[in-house]
Amino acid sequence: LAEVLEHEQHLPSVTPDGHTMPLMVNTGLAVDAVASLKPRIAGVGLYRTEVPFMITERFPGEQEQSRLYRDQLEGFAPLPVVMRTLDIGGDKDLPYFPIHEANPFLGWRGIRVTLDHPEVLMVQLRAMLRASVGLDNLRIMLPMITNVDEVDMALRLLDRALKELNEEGVSIRRPEVGVMIEVPATLYQLGALAERVDFFSVGSNDLTQYLLAVDRNNPRVADLYDACHPAVLSALAQLAAESRRLEMPATVCGELAGDPCGALLLTGMGFVGLSMNAPSLPRVRAAIRRVPLSDAQALVDETLGLPTARAVRAHLIERFAQWQ
Ligand code: PEP
Ligand code: MG
Repeated sequence: LAEVLEHEQHLPSVTPDGHTMPLMVNTGLAVDAVASLKPRIAGVGLYRTEVPFMITERFPGEQEQSRLYRDQLEGFAPLPVVMRTLDIGGDKDLPYFPIHEANPFLGWRGIRVTLDHPEVLMVQLRAMLRASVGLDNLRIMLPMITNVDEVDMALRLLDRALKELNEEGVSIRRPEVGVMIEVPATLYQLGALAERVDFFSVGSNDLTQYLLAVDRNNPRVADLYDACHPAVLSALAQLAAESRRLEMPATVCGELAGDPCGALLLTGMGFVGLSMNAPSLPRVRAAIRRVPLSDAQALVDETLGLPTARAVRAHLIERFAQWQ
């Protein structure tokens, strides 16, 4: 099977009825490991900038960050690279910036930390912008957004960074900016968010955790953590439909996008791109290439009526077998 899938990897990610589903990769460390995939993908859908921060001994400075980001942007150019601003807190701690809290996933996380430390965010934004000079493939994404004030504050800092750099003689266009949809509150703020940003990217890992009130890393409740819970699937389907109505491109970069059945459901719902860890690409591409969009849409209708995650998974496995 692995050989069959490998053979397909240079073929486009298109359904048998002609619908293109762009596949992207999630990255975090050195670009070399995945740069060879460039001809087979549509870009980097999520570059987790906190990953390189985890292996340094202090916050890397602007030049050091800029070099890292330049490697990513150059490595994948002209394909777009979505760089997420620092997403620490929750389960991701930096040794030199410890955060101790009783409920870290409900606490100081992602954009909440960086807006409280604008000096950290400014250095990062400046480094990203600087790295993008002459390339034009940078996109910036904000994690853990809960309300539009956070977006406005981050955008103000971005404008300040752009202005500063322009005054220093580095002329850069403002890159597209997007938000992660991973806090359930944002599902009810899509209109206001759409007025402020250029794209939505769904963090299905956190969206599942917060919708189900289940810690994504706690083995005791691991059985309850399931992105195929009917509530999560309904939320995703509504989000895809509403994004379409708002003419906002919405993609998915959580683990669900890298699961072949999940990828089919997300395709059927109308998401316009899937970003995943590189090893998931072959199986997802194979699934997309075997299942017509109309069948993926029917699959969404069939599963949305089911009462439990178990029933959804059983149905997906049964239907999936028919397409292989
Ligand atoms: C997510 O929450 O789904 C996501 C992609 O981000 P992370 O896993 O880094 O929290
Ligand atoms: Mg997340």
